[in-house]
Amino acid sequence: MIFTQEVKTRIQDALISKGANKPCSVCNSKDLVLVDELILSDKSSGGKFPTIVTGCGNCGKIETFAANTLVPGLLPNGKVGEY
Ligand SMILES: [Zn+2]
Repeated sequence: MIFTQEVKTRIQDALISKGANKPCSVCNSKDLVLVDELILSDKSSGGKFPTIVTGCGNCGKIETFAANTLVPGLLPNGKVGEY
């Protein structure tokens, strides 16, 4: 699922409101990049675990967030297929 601009804005607002927009923990760059696609882990017992991924635009360090925790209500019923 590629994020619409509306969804990207909701995610960026959540990152800010939850304090998850700090400078990179490796290189201290403030160049935070949001990967504009929902990433699914196929390792979870339920088969799908939607995650939101951000990366550092300088060194490439990647951070992952549980989509349903970072942005409650982003996915109806917490399920990707019903988005
Ligand atoms: Zn970095």
